[in-house]
Amino acid sequence: MRVDGDQRRFVRRAAGAAVAWLALFALLTGVSQGSETLARFVGNVVYVVPVALLAPLSYLAARRARGRLRTAWRLLAVSNLLWLAGELTWSGYAYLRPGGAPTPSFADVAYLASYAVALPAIVIGFGGAQALRRARGIVDSALITLGVGAVGWALVIGPLLPGTTKAGAIVTFAQPLLAVSIVTALVVVGLCCHRGVPPSFLLAGASFAVAGLTDAGYAYLFMIHSYGDASWLNLGWQLEAVLLCLAAAVAARRTEPEPEVRGLDRDLAVLPAAVAVLSIVGLAAADRFNDGRLTRSTLVIAVLLVSGLLLRQVLVTRDRTRLAAALTVALREQERLAVTDGLTGLYNRRFFQEMLRLDAERAERDGHAVSLVMIDLDRFKRINDTCGHPAGDRVLVEAADRIRRAVRPNDLVARYGGEEFVCLLPGAGEETALEVAEQVRRALSRTPLSVHDGHDVRLTASLGVASAGTRGGRAHGDLEGLIHDADGALYRAKARGRDQVAAASRVADLALDTDPDLPPALVWLADQIDAKLGSHEHSTAVSRWSLLTGARLGLHQATLRRTAAAARLHDIGKINVDDAILTKPGRLGPAEWDVLRRHPEEGARLLTELSDRADLAPLVGGHHERYDGTGYPSRLRGDGIPIEARIIAVCDSWAAMRADRAYAAALCEEEARQQIQRGRGTQFDPAVVDAFLALLDEGAIDDLAPLRHVEAPTHA
Ligand code: GH3
Ligand code: MG
Ligand code: MG
Repeated sequence: MRVDGDQRRFVRRAAGAAVAWLALFALLTGVSQGSETLARFVGNVVYVVPVALLAPLSYLAARRARGRLRTAWRLLAVSNLLWLAGELTWSGYAYLRPGGAPTPSFADVAYLASYAVALPAIVIGFGGAQALRRARGIVDSALITLGVGAVGWALVIGPLLPGTTKAGAIVTFAQPLLAVSIVTALVVVGLCCHRGVPPSFLLAGASFAVAGLTDAGYAYLFMIHSYGDASWLNLGWQLEAVLLCLAAAVAARRTEPEPEVRGLDRDLAVLPAAVAVLSIVGLAAADRFNDGRLTRSTLVIAVLLVSGLLLRQVLVTRDRTRLAAALTVALREQERLAVTDGLTGLYNRRFFQEMLRLDAERAERDGHAVSLVMIDLDRFKRINDTCGHPAGDRVLVEAADRIRRAVRPNDLVARYGGEEFVCLLPGAGEETALEVAEQVRRALSRTPLSVHDGHDVRLTASLGVASAGTRGGRAHGDLEGLIHDADGALYRAKARGRDQVAAASRVADLALDTDPDLPPALVWLADQIDAKLGSHEHSTAVSRWSLLTGARLGLHQATLRRTAAAARLHDIGKINVDDAILTKPGRLGPAEWDVLRRHPEEGARLLTELSDRADLAPLVGGHHERYDGTGYPSRLRGDGIPIEARIIAVCDSWAAMRADRAYAAALCEEEARQQIQRGRGTQFDPAVVDAFLALLDEGAIDDLAPLRHVEAPTHA
């Protein structure tokens, strides 16, 4: 509990008053040693003051307390009232009956009742502890009380018994024992099973400990008939009363929070075990000393103590079993949470990556394929912007649900990022993956989603598919490549207008030099030219962008394929151009221009003569024609130029402007864009320019990659 400065000051002041009172009482006790009248007054009137104060203070504490602590304080108030009743009776006897109160008297009954009510106050006040632990606390308390009581009786009270009545001895000796059981209960049930035991209960515990010692002292003095009104022992009870007053005042001043139950309690097994063993040894030793034989009571008490120890062990074991079961459940939940996305309940990205690794390994062993479908919701930001973030969240949950229901039972769906999902399809080749992706696409867009107050949104997504372990796909081990491919395909699905599925391998087959239909020798030529022109890729990028632009223009697959192939080979005619011209830093002279301008035709010739791809010849031959009819070599115009060549013209210019060349430094994106825009309708087909610039706006036109293996031109 947080004890602030104000409360601390109060406690300090109250403690000061308590010490002052104790000092005064000690002084009076000292002074009254010689005088019977004064001793009677101090021991029976002054003595009662703190006990009388205690009853109203604990009533106030009970009013202030909450929950279980209130019940505890109510019981303590009753207990303190009983104590006061006992003291008043005792004092009454002192003044009215020569020799004071008989033993036992009503005063003893009240004292015992006072303790008897305090014990349940503790057990109830800390009743939040689990039932098994409370039971154990009670068993421990009983064990310790029995052990201490048996030994105390055998060694101290028993031998002195002839001097008094057995009833008197019993009521006198029962009091310290009850105090012991209260303190044990507080330690075992309260301190061991709770965190943050309220300060008032710590003070009360100290008070009962003092009471136990004082009562034990009294029991001894009573047995030897040497207790009197001026006894210094009274100071012990005064301390008990003062500590309880402090406890009640602290509790009355500020509501104390209920103590928190410990998940894993502290088990003081040693304490009851040690007490039990020592008690049995003590009793046996006493028997031996008396007449050498174990008495029946020793045996009975030993059996009780051992049974009690066994019982508490059973309780501990059960408690630990229960705890272990609860921990197992918690652990399982923790494991579930660690792999789950909090919003959608799908698996999270980390788990997906782990499963992808495992699945790819398994697929490689078994010779199966494995595919990915990457899903990105279209224009999701708009849903957030128009309907609010919480509505966006609901859409994400619903989207996750639709995806989960659309895939096959063994497919794994995970939330990859904000509004991106990914499906792992074990054993699926590309065709199957495309089918599943198409199902997901339809499931997402089929019915509009009602977001809030009848506001419907149509949800669409773009999907990218990539496979490993298939012909043309990635190797199983290349997981990063696989994800990259799926991502790239997704990107293209977006670029082509969203709400569609794109496959990585199809595009890759078309765009990259892995195209099996391209003559390898000519691809090699293209690479040599690229290496001569600069340190960055050229033909591969032109091929890639041409493919995207063609797709954006809605061209058929066959045309796209041709466009990508022609783009890859469009400059091979430059192989017949002198290096000096190709890499000349300044402007070309007219003769040099003539040589360079022949490269489209040269390329077309090489294609016709050296390969079986004559279909590409007009496309390569036409890539320097201009839309307005002023290009070369044939001054074709408008639609007279093949669409593939018109596309290559734009992408080729873009690549040239964006790279450092011998004759000019690279332009920045904005300058290059202006150049393309300026050529719209004159140099370039306006439709192609529009498609290309739209892709550029969407970020689909990527940067030129540096060439990985640049060979020196002299080696060519
Ligand atoms: P595109 O079609 O190009 O994918 O457009 P988009 O708006 O979906 O793409 P963008 O990546 O620009 O925006 C994604 C948005 O998703 C931005 C972000 O605010 C939103 N988002 C990400 N995570 C959450 C989320 O957990 N809850 C909600 N409500 N929105 C999210
Ligand atoms: Mg996104
Ligand atoms: Mg999106």
